Amino acid sequence: MISVRCPHCHVGLKVDEGKLPPGISSFKCPKCKSPIPISILRGKNNFQSDSDTTLVQPLKTGIGRLTVLADGETEEQMFPLYEGTCVVGRRSPASNAVIGIETNDRSMSREHIRIEVKKDSKGGYKHYLSDNNSRNHTLYNSSFLEKGEVVVLNNNDEIVIGRTVIRFNE
Ligand SMILES: [Zn+2]
Repeated sequence: MISVRCPHCHVGLKVDEGKLPPGISSFKCPKCKSPIPISILRGKNNFQSDSDTTLVQPLKTGIGRLTVLADGETEEQMFPLYEGTCVVGRRSPASNAVIGIETNDRSMSREHIRIEVKKDSKGGYKHYLSDNNSRNHTLYNSSFLEKGEVVVLNNNDEIVIGRTVIRFNE
């Protein structure tokens, strides 16, 4: 068990690392439902437990995923999405992105796009993509997203951030 604080609502959490599925990059805060990056578990955020400490339950997965396609600057990577706001960008110590892509593509911003994952009325999920004021903008199915434009992702859609191609799957 590892004790951390949620970076969003600051609730104390006890996380059983062994119960988290391998390969994930974040889990959902049981209180505020925001994604908490797994990387903070490896940081020095340990603290003394107190009365508002919450136990994190094992994760539910299967609400969409991103596949980063391999090229000369990037190896293939897969990231499950979570309910709430997922900011995606180039992995860096200076980034607050929940999904940090390991890449040498410097034209990818550290917090490049946002994907908002929300339940729909049929019990499924909808995925809303927008550009996060990135320096080099975001290509969605071959056209640039306008500032403030939000699109709903469909299975197999392609998103290009910097020179890197990401595929969305439901
Ligand atoms: Zn929280």
